[in-house]
Amino acid sequence: MTAQLINGKEIARAKRLAMKAAVGKMKSEGAVPGLAVVLVGENPASQSYVKGKIRDCKEVGIYSELIHFPESVSEKALLDKIRELNEKASVHGILVQLPLPKQISEQKVIQTISPAKDVDGFHPINLGRMMTGQSSFVPCTPAGIIEMLHAVNVQIAGKHVVIVGRSNIVGKPAALLFLNNNATVTLCHSKTTPLSQYTKQADVLVVAVGHAGLIGAEDIKPGAIVIDVGMNRNADGKLAGDVEFEEVREKASFITPVPGGVGPMTRVMLLENTLKAANHFIRERDLHAE
Ligand code: NDP
Repeated sequence: MTAQLINGKEIARAKRLAMKAAVGKMKSEGAVPGLAVVLVGENPASQSYVKGKIRDCKEVGIYSELIHFPESVSEKALLDKIRELNEKASVHGILVQLPLPKQISEQKVIQTISPAKDVDGFHPINLGRMMTGQSSFVPCTPAGIIEMLHAVNVQIAGKHVVIVGRSNIVGKPAALLFLNNNATVTLCHSKTTPLSQYTKQADVLVVAVGHAGLIGAEDIKPGAIVIDVGMNRNADGKLAGDVEFEEVREKASFITPVPGGVGPMTRVMLLENTLKAANHFIRERDLHAE
C-alpha cells in the first residue's frame, strides 16, 4: 500500500481563496479585519515565520501591522504594547511570536493578550473553554490537523488517536480537540516506554516531538493515518519531519509531507482565527449600535 498524500499546501491555498472572498464581503460592509504581529529580537526562524504570516494576511486582504522590538526589550514595555493593542479598534487579533528572550515571561505575555483577540488560542481562558467543549480560539496547529483530516474525508469519531508530544501548543490541545471530536486519545511523551507499543495501536498517529526519524515503518500499524508535525533541519539544511517519510508512506493509508503538510495548515488557521475575531467584534459593535 502506498499512502495518499495529505497536501496541506493545497488545502491551505483553497482555504485562503475562500477567505479572500469572505474578507471582500466584510470590506464591502465597511469592516476590515486586522492582525497585529509582535516580534522580539532577530531569531531568523521567528523572522521568517512572521514574514510568512504578514504575506498571508496581504494575500487574503487582512490588514496587518508588525511591531518589532529589540532582543533587549523589557517585559513591561512589551506588556504595555499588548495592553495598547487590546484597546485598538483596528486590531482584532494579536499574535506574539514565540519563543521570547529570557527576561520575558511567556505566560505573562499570553495572559495579557485579551482572550477576545487571542488568535493563537494560548490564553488559559480559551484553553479552559476548549477543555469544557465551549466555543473558543483553538491553537492553530491542532486546528489545522483536524481541518486537513476533514478535507480528505477522514472520519475522526471512534478512531484511536495516538499523539506523541505533550506541549501546550501542539500535543495537549490536539488531544483535547480529538477528544471533542469523539476520538479515543492516547497522549505519549518522553517518558512513555516503549513508545512503539502505543504508536502501533494508532488509527491516527500525530507526531509532534522535534526529533527527525523518531517514527519508522515498524512503529505504525498497516493502514494508519500519519500526521507529521515535526520540523527539523537535517545536515544539509533541508527540512524534515519526525517520521521516516519514504518507508512509512509504504505502510500508511494517509500521510502528511514535511514541508507542505501541517505547516501551511497552521498558518492558514491563524487567518481563520483572525476572521473569527473580527466577525465577533463587528457583531458586538452592530449590536451596541442598535
Ligand atoms: P516541545 O519541545 O515543546 O515538545 C516536545 C514533546 O515531545 C514533549 O512533550 C516531549 O516530552 C516529547 N518528546 C521528546 N522526546 C521524545 C521521545 N523520544 N519520545 C516521545 N516523546 C518525546 O515541542 P513543540 O510541541 O513545540 O514542537 C514539536 C515539533 O513540532 C517541533 O519540531 C516543532 O518545530 C514542530 N512544530 C511544527 C509546527 C507546524 O506548524 N508544522 C507548529 C509547532 C511545532 P516531555 O514532555 O516528556 O519532555
